[in-house]
Amino acid sequence: MTIAVVGNELAIAFGDGSEVFLALDLLRRACPCAACQGEPDAMGRVIRPDVHIGEFGFELRRMEKVGGYALQLFWGDGHSTGIYSFDYLKRLAAAQSS
Ligand SMILES: [Zn+2]
Repeated sequence: MTIAVVGNELAIAFGDGSEVFLALDLLRRACPCAACQGEPDAMGRVIRPDVHIGEFGFELRRMEKVGGYALQLFWGDGHSTGIYSFDYLKRLAAAQSS
C-alpha cells in the first residue's frame, strides 16, 4: 500500500490494486470523528456540530496507519482525531467521482 500527498490530493494505492485520489478539503470536511460528524444524543438524533476549521486546516501534515484497516490524518491546525477506514476512503472517492 502506498500513500502520498500529490498537490491538493491524497493518493492511495491499495494492496488489491485499486487506487483512489481524494481532495484534501473534501477529506477534512468528511472527518469521521465525533467532534466533526456529531454523535447521537439520548433520543438517537444526531446533532451536526458547527465545525470550525482553522488556518492550515486543509493541509495534511502527517498520516499514520491504524491497525491495517484505517488511516489517522494529522491536519495543519492540529486536528487529528479522525480515523478514516479504508472502506470509508473508497466510499468517499466513489461519491466524489459520481
Ligand atoms: Zn474531526
